[in-house]
Amino acid sequence: MPRKKPIDLDLFRKTAKEHKRRMKRFLSKAEGFPTRRLQAITIEVEKQVWQEIDCLSCANCCKTMTPTFNLQDTKRIARFLGESVESFREKWLKKERSGDRDWINKKEPCQFLNLKDNKCSIYEVRPADCAGFPHLRKKLRDYVHVHKQNISHCPATYRFVELMMDQSPASFTAPAHI
Ligand code: SF4
Ligand code: SF4
Repeated sequence: MPRKKPIDLDLFRKTAKEHKRRMKRFLSKAEGFPTRRLQAITIEVEKQVWQEIDCLSCANCCKTMTPTFNLQDTKRIARFLGESVESFREKWLKKERSGDRDWINKKEPCQFLNLKDNKCSIYEVRPADCAGFPHLRKKLRDYVHVHKQNISHCPATYRFVELMMDQSPASFTAPAHI
């Protein structure tokens, strides 16, 4: 397998800024592609993305975005850290809006990111949102709005959309062999 190339975040930000409008237009169009064919291509393209992208050379999601912590996440992480849910929330989390059920980080980068090696110190019990990020495997039509936002933050999402755009237009309408 070819070695993954480390991510140059400065270069990524510059390139994403240049191309994001074009990519967002493609994603809007992709919402209208036949579902089964679109999903078949999504699965293949997602595999290719992870052959190329080295998240440990990036961690831009943990540095610049916050995950959502649901009730199960806060219970699991607090238990792992040996503290009460209340003290865990008090120390690290806030609600985005009053009345919200979920919690978000008070600060960025995430307190659980080790900036020396870009590893998550609570990896085994990390929030479900982190475990699923950047949601490339999900039904594309349901995640178009998420991918549009993440083009500028996540090199894996950027590469995913780029590879989708490289497919011939006819491949999206051909019958799906799944
Ligand atoms: S998921 Fe995206 S932003 Fe997060 S580390 Fe991987 S490439 Fe970087
Ligand atoms: S909990 Fe871990 S994976 Fe999630 S944002 Fe924080 S450091 Fe990153």
